[in-house]
Amino acid sequence: MTPHGKLTRRELLTGRFRQAWDRARAAAVSSTTEAESAVAVIQGRRCLAYRNLVCTTCYERCPEEDALVIESGLPRVVSANCTGCRVCHDVCPAPENAVLMINAQDKGR
Ligand code: SF4
Ligand code: SF4
Repeated sequence: MTPHGKLTRRELLTGRFRQAWDRARAAAVSSTTEAESAVAVIQGRRCLAYRNLVCTTCYERCPEEDALVIESGLPRVVSANCTGCRVCHDVCPAPENAVLMINAQDKGR
């Protein structure tokens, strides 16, 4: 602080950095919470496998055991095991993404 009560350049830069850091941390916490409360749902009308094309990408990339299963060639999310990590959504190659992430609380509505 200068004798005139103004912030020094160093204090200003440090303060800005800290504000940016706090904002980034808040966003990270918020996205973690969002992911934890989300669950994946396969939209059959967009899914390649439902159009008689061979695709198991979501199943292959899902990091959770038994969260995504293939039954008769079609993917199904076992919501009780889904952590909402979004990997299946991010890797889905369908022209219109076939994986919808919904709020876990909306499941079954
Ligand atoms: S959101 Fe994650 S855990 Fe859930 S089905 Fe997709 S890849 Fe698996
Ligand atoms: S990655 Fe997409 S298109 Fe492929 S099976 Fe999964 S939901 Fe269907």
